[in-house]
Amino acid sequence: MFSKFLPNDHVDTVFKLSPEFLKERGIKGVITDLDNTLVAWDRKDATPEVIAWFKELKEAGIKVTIMSNNSKSRVAYFSDPLEIYFISKARKPMQTAFRRAKKEMELNNDEIVVVGDQLLTDVFGGNRAKLHTVLVVPIVKTDGFFTKFNRQIERRLMEYFRKKGKLTWEE
Ligand SMILES: [Mg+2]
Repeated sequence: MFSKFLPNDHVDTVFKLSPEFLKERGIKGVITDLDNTLVAWDRKDATPEVIAWFKELKEAGIKVTIMSNNSKSRVAYFSDPLEIYFISKARKPMQTAFRRAKKEMELNNDEIVVVGDQLLTDVFGGNRAKLHTVLVVPIVKTDGFFTKFNRQIERRLMEYFRKKGKLTWEE
């Protein structure tokens, strides 16, 4: 009954999504969350690992959109130096931003992966958009103000999926 909240894959870090991993699955575009997916929610700029990952994807011809519910100033400060297309104030799991990203990337649904650290926004939104969804373990255990509320619901969903044997990593 909660299948719209269940990711297609789960990994411990976005860096597992190498060009090889993605190409094997026919993926040509990545829509990635920012806070606690690429860097800790309170870190302003990219790490060397993030920069290297984006470079690898770019060289492999894989398109990237950074899609975040956070403010324009936060997301632009992070994305602009990397020259990556971004959508801020995305209001995930609402569908408007997903449609915009799909149009911008000019790819089919089965060629796009959505990656993020939250079931209620990233995974639910990506599933509703009929895209392949990947859940990552949050980079830090703390969260911004609004995310704290979602996490309480998320913990119950995680527990439910664990009992059903559908999500298998430990915290
Ligand atoms: Mg996040």
